Amino acid sequence: MSRVDNNLSSIVEEIADEMKSRPDRGDVATYIPELANVDPDCFGLTVIDAHGEVFSGGDSDMAFSIQSISKVFTLTLALGIVGDRLWRRVGREPSGNPFNSIVQLEMERGVPRNPFINAGAIAVTDVLVSGHQPREALGQIVRFMQFLADDASIGIDHAVAASEKRTGFRNTALANYMKSFDVIENLVDFTLGVYFHHCAIAMTCRQLAMAGRYLAHSGRNPTTGLSVVSPERARRINALMLTCGHYDGSGEFAYRVGLPGKSGVGGGIFAIAPGKASIAVWSPGLDKSGNSHLGRIALEKLTKRTGWSIFGA
Ligand code: GLN
Repeated sequence: MSRVDNNLSSIVEEIADEMKSRPDRGDVATYIPELANVDPDCFGLTVIDAHGEVFSGGDSDMAFSIQSISKVFTLTLALGIVGDRLWRRVGREPSGNPFNSIVQLEMERGVPRNPFINAGAIAVTDVLVSGHQPREALGQIVRFMQFLADDASIGIDHAVAASEKRTGFRNTALANYMKSFDVIENLVDFTLGVYFHHCAIAMTCRQLAMAGRYLAHSGRNPTTGLSVVSPERARRINALMLTCGHYDGSGEFAYRVGLPGKSGVGGGIFAIAPGKASIAVWSPGLDKSGNSHLGRIALEKLTKRTGWSIFGA
């Protein structure tokens, strides 16, 4: 291992140790009842560098609910199916509103502001459902995650999916509203079922950082050499993560961390340092925008110490 690698391994371990013991942990999401049972003291961090070297600290091998982080991967799949036609149904601008906001959707006549807010992600999921049984569409998403992470053990936490389905009144409202503008093609129940289930995919930090490596390396996994998307598409997905990946906390995340990243209400954040590393962090307590409180602080420390912010050291 080179000197730099040693350095990175101590940076990751130090950050994980520090985060494990901090008293300010944010609040675990409760609107999906099953997520309220997660232990707020958990903290995991994995960084995978360009050589495929894995650096981990804390609970990096504990599976958590990836929730909205799945939207990066469903967007990748949907762009693969319909290409730029996707942008007729979903915008590409930051929303400045909470992830489950309803007001903006009315003003914009049922076309969601971007693919990462809930409405936008439901519209993206609808693209994956068209022409398939919901079960097949979901199977395709899970297999894509398994392929990317090179790990067949990745699956869905059905208790989380059922819990969200029981209480997903807002998402149902968003989907029905979009359906009234023909933005949703399939039965609302089918599209929502697939959406709830892909949000309920459970992964560890290590698996998630592995799955997202293509976005850090111009669309291809540098270890296997396998290409997932074109360099241009990877760049564009990263641009969307930077501007929209943390909802109304996206500006703050860019200001403090300076990396394209996507958060989920399970407390995970996936982030990439272009050309350098794929990163996953998990701490279940959230801030007021529904983004991981300590996850963001950990990434801020990481970019400060590595000089990885895309805006300069
Ligand atoms: N499944 C969650 C929801 O639809 C995802 C939200 C999130 O992670 N920000 O509400």
